[in-house]
Amino acid sequence: MAAVGVDAGLRVLATVHDGERAWLIPAPKALTGRLARLRRYQRRQSRQLAAQMRAQGLDPAKPCPKGVRLGVSRRRYRTRRRIAREHARIADLRRDALHRASTGIVREAQVIAIEGLRVKAMARGMGRRAFRRGVADAALGELRRQITYKGAWAAREVVLIDTFYASSKTCSECGAVNAALKLQKHWQCLACAASHDRDVNAAKNLRAEGLRVLRMRGSSPATGERPESDARGVACAADAAPPVTVVPLQRRPTANREPAQSAARRQTRRAPSGTARRRVRAGL
Ligand SMILES: [Zn+2]
Repeated sequence: MAAVGVDAGLRVLATVHDGERAWLIPAPKALTGRLARLRRYQRRQSRQLAAQMRAQGLDPAKPCPKGVRLGVSRRRYRTRRRIAREHARIADLRRDALHRASTGIVREAQVIAIEGLRVKAMARGMGRRAFRRGVADAALGELRRQITYKGAWAAREVVLIDTFYASSKTCSECGAVNAALKLQKHWQCLACAASHDRDVNAAKNLRAEGLRVLRMRGSSPATGERPESDARGVACAADAAPPVTVVPLQRRPTANREPAQSAARRQTRRAPSGTARRRVRAGL
């Protein structure tokens, strides 16, 4: 079982580094099309709203005065419902992808290092930056939440890395901090000239930092010695594969998961009723 660092993103849902190689967990492909459709509906709604305002003798460029009720045409009503449905589907896709990612990570790794409660200063990518930032933060928070509880089920060591640790800006080769680093995907270290992929470098750093934190916990302050393993028997050096018992993920304590109930649940997924859809609307 490996020790991994997990860097959460948006286009790439997560970048995972296990010390030797990095693997990417891409965002679901269907998401792109859904987002485009959502934007189209939103433009349509804004056109319909302006038309309604004109029909009631108002200037659509100005905010609607207080106390004025705008009529809702059949078409505007339909657009509104379509927007709500797109939001729900997008949330479903994101949540599903995050669950797959967290389950996969917890299954593969014994030690998992992930960023702690930091509001990520920058989201990757351009364009609607504020929106993307909000989504990226929500995705990171949700991924961390899932990894934490699934990690507890499977007896994993989940290390939350401090807010102020500059995982993106630190060179994973030499440790130099590139303070001037902006949003670019690739960069070269000014000190040792190593070239980095932003996300892979961050995941690598998070992994190293996670292992360091575990070593600190395990070492006695008096001697400063680095023991082979910490108090829980988890090996500190990831490269020496630790002989840990792996608790299978399937045996999680879910009292409310009877076979009959899960069959019924599968059926609702196949044909989601209006209520079911509304129920899952919340989330990312
Ligand atoms: Zn360097």
